[in-house]
Amino acid sequence: MARPIKKIVIVGGGTAGWMTAAPLARRLGKSCVIDLVESPEIGTIGVGEATLPTIRYYNRSLGIDGADFVKKTQASFKLGIEFKDWGHIGNRFFHGFGDFGPSIENRSPHTHWLRLKQADPNFPSCEDWSVATVLARNNRFTPPSGDQPSAANAYSFGYHFDAGLYAAYLRDYAVARGVNRIEAKIVDVELRPEDGFITAVRLEDGRRVEGDLFVDCSGFRGLLIEGALKAGFIDWSDQLLCDSALAVPCARTEPLTPYTTSTAKTAGWVWRIPLQHRTGNGHVYSSHFMSDAEAESILMAGLDGKALDAPRQIRFRTGRRRKAWVKNCVAIGLAGGFIEPLESTAIRLIESGVGGLLQLFPDMAFRPHLADEFNRQTAGQYEYIRDFVVMHYKLTHRDDSDFWRHCAAQPVSDALRHQIDIFRESGRIVILDPEGFTEPSWVSLFLGLGLIPDSHDPFADLIDMGQLREHFARIRRLIQQTAAAAPLHADYIARHCNAVPEPVP
Ligand SMILES: Cc1cc2nc3c(=O)[nH]c(=O)nc-3n(C[C@H](O)[C@H](O)[C@H](O)COP(=O)(O)OP(=O)(O)OC[C@H]3O[C@@H](n4cnc5c(N)ncnc54)[C@H](O)[C@@H]3O)c2cc1C
Repeated sequence: MARPIKKIVIVGGGTAGWMTAAPLARRLGKSCVIDLVESPEIGTIGVGEATLPTIRYYNRSLGIDGADFVKKTQASFKLGIEFKDWGHIGNRFFHGFGDFGPSIENRSPHTHWLRLKQADPNFPSCEDWSVATVLARNNRFTPPSGDQPSAANAYSFGYHFDAGLYAAYLRDYAVARGVNRIEAKIVDVELRPEDGFITAVRLEDGRRVEGDLFVDCSGFRGLLIEGALKAGFIDWSDQLLCDSALAVPCARTEPLTPYTTSTAKTAGWVWRIPLQHRTGNGHVYSSHFMSDAEAESILMAGLDGKALDAPRQIRFRTGRRRKAWVKNCVAIGLAGGFIEPLESTAIRLIESGVGGLLQLFPDMAFRPHLADEFNRQTAGQYEYIRDFVVMHYKLTHRDDSDFWRHCAAQPVSDALRHQIDIFRESGRIVILDPEGFTEPSWVSLFLGLGLIPDSHDPFADLIDMGQLREHFARIRRLIQQTAAAAPLHADYIARHCNAVPEPVP
């Protein structure tokens, strides 16, 4: 008979720690004791404010009310990312959440768009058929509506939120469901001599916290997974050159955009994340190609509101743990690996990590196949996201700095090479991870970066050209009407989910 896990210890109270604690508490209830150890002295990374639409499924799985969550985390809505100066200086495109209209004869909409574009170089941009993009360009937001799929509701959205408030929101949720919060610094990790499993963590004040299963959410340091269990790290800094970030909040400015902005710079890029109470800004760059002082002056010069703090420096190493699950320890969040935040994927990887752990939850036998499967899935997700992010750099036409010349020449994986080649030839997207970016995301990036395929799927030619033009014109009108009828993003928030005012100090 299976002997169940009776005691879980989560190490770390950042976004990853509380995102792990909340669903475990909800699912396991009183059958298992859950302790979470966090150190106020060490603190959290304090960034991580833009998400993907899947965060809504995560929140929904906890029974969290969307409006309550937006109010309490100073959140705004995110329809996608606007890219500026990526590909070439002056370029501007949008990676919207959702497709470019309905498929026709079982062929993706971009396939037919491509045929129309190849017949008429003046045919409008594919973005005109993305509801998310058209809403975003007009600073409008409303959630998709209607029970039946239609061209008007073929989009999705995520959130921007205050990372500290989100962790606090989940902390309250988890503690209310029985999670024991322990504020202390861990100074040692005890291993069972016979098999190297973790038995306890030792705290600075002398206490021991014992457990059956340990979840390492200790951030970049990977206190358990690397510090104690030596999982090993696969370094991808040859493929993604950025290794540093500076983050600074500034006062909110109008309009409240329903999207993240990413602007490419000479040795990296700058993010802008609009929240209800402030705007989050950061500069991600390569310290090999730019000094910290120069990176800071670029960041500060680009703020569109008054800086609310001094910029904070963060160094990072791109890559993943060789194994995210070793013995009785599972690493989730930055402890498991990191890919720069260009496509807001780290919180998505936390969702997948927690989902994978729940799906493959062990008993005291800790059957190795469960860990193997978790590690297989995790490695695949990281590699898929890495390739998606690398593509932003690889397809550049910029040669205004050593950094960009280096990016254009840098090696890419065989999978990404194949994906690029096949799209260039015939507009097909062939490698899709069920947990990762979908076909329209790849299409947005390829087209946005200026990769227009040489030919198109011959099945598209079976559709009458006149009918196809009419169809595209009709859908475009419908999308424009949908956007025109939607409220401004700021008005939507004011009406439905205005943030709880901050206490006056
Ligand atoms: C520059 C930058 C920008 C980012 N932007 C985004 C974004 O827009 N979207 C996105 O999805 N992700 C983003 N991320 C990633 C995101 O910030 C993280 O994935 C997320 O915050 C989770 O962090 P964490 O909980 O793993 O680690 P941390 O926040 O570092 O938390 C670690 C926890 O471990 C505890 N701890 C560590 N050592 C000890 C010890 N010895 N004893 C006790 N406790 C200990 C700490 O006290 C803390 O509570 C970004 C990351 C960076 C670096």
